[in-house]
Amino acid sequence: MVQKANVPYGSDVSAGTYECSDCGYEYSNQSKTSLPPCPNRTKSVHYKNAWNIITGKGDAKEDPYPNR
Ligand SMILES: [Zn+2]
Repeated sequence: MVQKANVPYGSDVSAGTYECSDCGYEYSNQSKTSLPPCPNRTKSVHYKNAWNIITGKGDAKEDPYPNR
Protein backbone atom coordinates (compact mmCIF):
# COMPACT_ATOMS: atom_id res chain seq x y z
CA MET A 1 0.00 0.00 0.00
CA VAL A 2 2.66 2.48 -0.93
CA GLN A 3 0.95 3.97 -3.95
CA LYS A 4 0.32 7.68 -3.88
CA ALA A 5 -2.93 8.43 -2.14
CA ASN A 6 -2.82 12.13 -2.82
CA VAL A 7 -1.17 14.60 -5.11
CA PRO A 8 -0.17 18.22 -4.45
CA TYR A 9 -1.74 21.19 -6.20
CA GLY A 10 -0.45 21.66 -9.70
CA SER A 11 0.41 18.02 -10.21
CA ASP A 12 0.00 16.54 -13.64
CA VAL A 13 -2.90 14.13 -13.57
CA SER A 14 -5.38 12.37 -15.79
CA ALA A 15 -9.12 12.90 -15.73
CA GLY A 16 -10.80 11.61 -12.63
CA THR A 17 -12.35 12.62 -9.34
CA TYR A 18 -10.33 14.14 -6.55
CA GLU A 19 -11.09 15.20 -3.02
CA CYS A 20 -9.37 17.94 -1.08
CA SER A 21 -7.10 16.45 1.57
CA ASP A 22 -7.91 19.31 3.89
CA CYS A 23 -11.62 20.09 3.59
CA GLY A 24 -13.03 17.20 1.58
CA TYR A 25 -14.16 19.31 -1.35
CA GLU A 26 -14.84 17.04 -4.29
CA TYR A 27 -13.39 18.05 -7.60
CA SER A 28 -14.15 16.32 -10.86
CA ASN A 29 -11.35 16.78 -13.32
CA GLN A 30 -12.61 16.18 -16.81
CA SER A 31 -9.98 17.61 -19.07
CA LYS A 32 -7.32 19.50 -17.23
CA THR A 33 -3.91 18.01 -17.01
CA SER A 34 -2.91 19.68 -13.78
CA LEU A 35 -4.79 20.18 -10.55
CA PRO A 36 -5.83 23.66 -9.34
CA PRO A 37 -5.72 24.77 -5.72
CA CYS A 38 -8.84 23.96 -3.71
CA PRO A 39 -11.48 26.71 -4.07
CA ASN A 40 -12.08 26.57 -0.31
CA ARG A 41 -8.48 27.29 0.42
CA THR A 42 -9.20 30.89 1.38
CA LYS A 43 -12.14 29.97 3.62
CA SER A 44 -10.49 27.46 5.88
CA VAL A 45 -7.07 26.31 6.90
CA HIS A 46 -5.35 24.20 4.30
CA TYR A 47 -1.95 22.90 5.19
CA LYS A 48 -1.69 19.71 3.15
CA ASN A 49 -2.48 21.51 -0.09
CA ALA A 50 -3.13 18.28 -1.89
CA TRP A 51 -5.92 16.27 -3.49
CA ASN A 52 -6.87 12.73 -2.58
CA ILE A 53 -7.34 10.51 -5.58
CA ILE A 54 -10.83 9.04 -5.68
CA THR A 55 -11.02 7.79 -9.23
CA GLY A 56 -8.82 8.06 -12.24
CA LYS A 57 -5.24 7.10 -12.72
CA GLY A 58 -4.06 4.73 -10.09
CA ASP A 59 -5.80 2.02 -8.20
CA ALA A 60 -9.49 2.66 -7.98
CA LYS A 61 -11.12 1.51 -4.80
CA GLU A 62 -14.15 0.38 -6.67
CA ASP A 63 -14.71 -0.45 -10.27
CA PRO A 64 -18.00 0.91 -11.62
CA TYR A 65 -17.45 -0.81 -14.95
CA PRO A 66 -17.85 -4.56 -14.92
CA ASN A 67 -15.31 -5.92 -17.33
CA ARG A 68 -16.46 -9.44 -17.65
ZN1 LIG B 1 -10.03 22.20 0.42
